Amino acid sequence: MAAVDRIELEADLELVRAATHTAETYARGDNHTVAAAARAKDGRIITGLNVYHFTGGPCAELVVLGAAAAQGAYELEAIVAVADGGRGIVPPCGRCRQVLFDYFPDLTVLVGTAEEPRALPVAELLPESYVWADHQ
Ligand SMILES: [Zn+2]
Repeated sequence: MAAVDRIELEADLELVRAATHTAETYARGDNHTVAAAARAKDGRIITGLNVYHFTGGPCAELVVLGAAAAQGAYELEAIVAVADGGRGIVPPCGRCRQVLFDYFPDLTVLVGTAEEPRALPVAELLPESYVWADHQ
């Protein structure tokens, strides 16, 4: 494995650990069951929990986008979501894929297992995607 690949893998594992820590430490009841962690281009890691509500409360990934902006972290390079109870990495739902793609077309999304996450470009998670900006 090349040195750059090892560094990227370690950074991805750190992101998974941050999301896992948030899920295992702060998830509570049925309202907060999934954590997400994003890495900003300046290296900061921002975490958040989903806000479940039957009217369509935001997933953890969307909470992280707002939390990152509230800290001035407008440029995100990678994100991962981890469910509580040891359920591991959760791939983003369809709505989140669209939002992540629209906000950060070059974003990397971690999927797979916590031990062996796979880094995929968000565009690969949303082939033939609707590009909101093209229709305004
Ligand atoms: Zn979602």
